[in-house]
Amino acid sequence: MFQYDEKVLKDQLLELIRLAATDLPRDVVESIQAAEQNEDEGSAARSVFGMILKNIELARVESTPICQDTGTNIYMVYIPEGIGMRKLTALIHKATSEAVDKSYLRPNAVDSITGKNSGNNIGEGQPFIHFEEWDNDYIEFKLMLKGGGCENVSTQYKLPDVGLGAGRDMDGVYKVIVDAVNKAQGLGCAPGILGIGVGGDRTTSHLTAKSQLFRKMTDTNPNTELASMESRLLADLNELGVGPMGFGGKTTILGVKMGTMHRLPASFFVSISYMCWAYRRHSMILNSNGEVTYD
Ligand code: SF4
Repeated sequence: MFQYDEKVLKDQLLELIRLAATDLPRDVVESIQAAEQNEDEGSAARSVFGMILKNIELARVESTPICQDTGTNIYMVYIPEGIGMRKLTALIHKATSEAVDKSYLRPNAVDSITGKNSGNNIGEGQPFIHFEEWDNDYIEFKLMLKGGGCENVSTQYKLPDVGLGAGRDMDGVYKVIVDAVNKAQGLGCAPGILGIGVGGDRTTSHLTAKSQLFRKMTDTNPNTELASMESRLLADLNELGVGPMGFGGKTTILGVKMGTMHRLPASFFVSISYMCWAYRRHSMILNSNGEVTYD
């Protein structure tokens, strides 16, 4: 039977939140460093990347938030059979509230009717926690903080889109993705990372798109058709010249990650989850001895 000490796990979750808020993952930092080197000496783009990298390093060293916008706290939690979800949810809530007290997170949960801020980042659907049971004998918590600015330029298309000449096929998918990035024009704190959901219904399409953002920058899509489309989109989108924060340059997008779901014959949705350069995600594995490892 898998057991854990609640107080210890709450503290371990608090550390996961601190890491996510203050320490950008290595694969993301390396991708931003490579983008900086790719820009021309003396260009606005290179200088923007320099500032971004300085910000990232300062936040890591001083353990302060990388961005003032805490964003939506999105958890994917993978559990062995028999683990109670309500207890884990309560511990995530406790850790979240403490993270606000310690200023790792800004209180960001606002009642949609009254406009009142809950003050501790807890509210209806906040944080967003998605559970899945698996066959492994350990628990994995994946956490992503997704900013409001980049969420505002995330979008969903319904194919066919006559205005864009986008039909119900992968060529149509390609066209709407290019349109979305073109429309964003650096808003949402470019360079962005795209999580794409192709198919599903309106909800699952968006969820597929967001789930893609938990992948590593350097991984390769196991589906060869999607892998080649990800590479093609990355190359083509960087020809748009929007650049970091919209200042122009060779890097508009740092990565494209695509996933698909089966769809109804009558519907063809393409969801685009746009993530900003403050691509804050970390994970934690808790084994049955109570030991944790962070990534
Ligand atoms: S979009 Fe990202 S970088 Fe921009 S303000 Fe929001 S969290 Fe910060």
